[in-house]
Amino acid sequence: MLNVLLISGVERMGTVSASNTAKRKRYWAPTLLFASTGFLALTAVPLYGLEYGYSWQQWLAFILITGLCGISISAGNHRLWTHRTYKAHWMLRLWFALFSAATLQNTTLNWCSAHRLHHRYTDNNDLDPHSSKRGLWFSHLDWMMREYPSGRKTYDNVKDLQQDKIVMWQHRHYLPIAIGMNFAICLILGLITGDIIAMFLLAGVLRMVVNHHAAFALNSFGHRWGKRKFKGDISARDNPIINIFAFGEGYHNYHHAFPADYRNGVGWFAYDPTKWLIKSLSWLGITWQLRAATKLQIYRATQEVEIERAEQQLEKLATQDQQYWRELLQRERQDFCEIFDRWQALMTQRRAIDPDNASGRWKLATIQTQIRELKFRLKMQSERLRLMMRQLPLSPATTG
Ligand SMILES: [Zn+2]
Ligand SMILES: [Zn+2]
Repeated sequence: MLNVLLISGVERMGTVSASNTAKRKRYWAPTLLFASTGFLALTAVPLYGLEYGYSWQQWLAFILITGLCGISISAGNHRLWTHRTYKAHWMLRLWFALFSAATLQNTTLNWCSAHRLHHRYTDNNDLDPHSSKRGLWFSHLDWMMREYPSGRKTYDNVKDLQQDKIVMWQHRHYLPIAIGMNFAICLILGLITGDIIAMFLLAGVLRMVVNHHAAFALNSFGHRWGKRKFKGDISARDNPIINIFAFGEGYHNYHHAFPADYRNGVGWFAYDPTKWLIKSLSWLGITWQLRAATKLQIYRATQEVEIERAEQQLEKLATQDQQYWRELLQRERQDFCEIFDRWQALMTQRRAIDPDNASGRWKLATIQTQIRELKFRLKMQSERLRLMMRQLPLSPATTG
């Protein structure tokens, strides 16, 4: 029964409009789960600590298990299964299936279906299961606790995952796996650290609350506060605070711009433990076929956002000023598109060249120098764009 109710958090059908405020059916299992774990985390966890204290080993166990569970959602449910950004050995997939179930965030199949809908219909109040346009409370928790037509169940968008034996095994036996994992985590860590109750509170309750709200915060705060450098027309933001607790998932604007990229933080140094794990495992042959956006694609995305922002600023200018700046900006946009198209064409040519003969090597060298020239043109254009933004007779554009 609990299984049915938990799953039903995202399995909803209906025809009621999103704006309909009629009383909605409540899903009691997720409601009680979120309420009880939240209440215990705020009361029993600190009270037990004040009375008996927690050792550093217990805190270490809490941090490790929070990481294992959280990263099973981010590297498993999210980047592996929802977006297919890489391939993984069956043992790793089994690991992800077990520990993601322990977080009680619904089965992997249901999780991925809802998340694919979120990407497909971002900010559409009728079709995005947790559209942030419907408010923080709705996008953070309420969408799972009450019946909304936007939370309809569909498996049409996860047919590929229905071929994955591990995903389907977890889906069919979700409740015993989820309860068994939580029981095992608390018992094993409790026996190791010498206090089962302390581990129930830290590695059971507090860990689940942290995992829950770090993931849910991406849907709510991650679509409300932060920067939009890569895609300006959606609510998703890069939020450094959520990023810490969400194991790199906080680069949410980048992720919405490039969902097929196994990274969310692009540079190797950008805090994204999920990316570091996936990359490290690829050196051991446990993950492979890692997909990533090219530098050129990323550059183009950021540049386009800058141009769009400049255009929005121009709208606020007096008409006679607008004309002059608009023409300048139009030329810059054309120039940028031209450079990008030329670069793409050179890349295509490069792939077709045989490097094993002298003429092929000469052609490759020629293409390489042309690409270097294009890079320089892009750099100069970026400089001009920045200058232009500074000289616009307006206050600086907001970066939100
Ligand atoms: Zn999102
Ligand atoms: Zn995603």
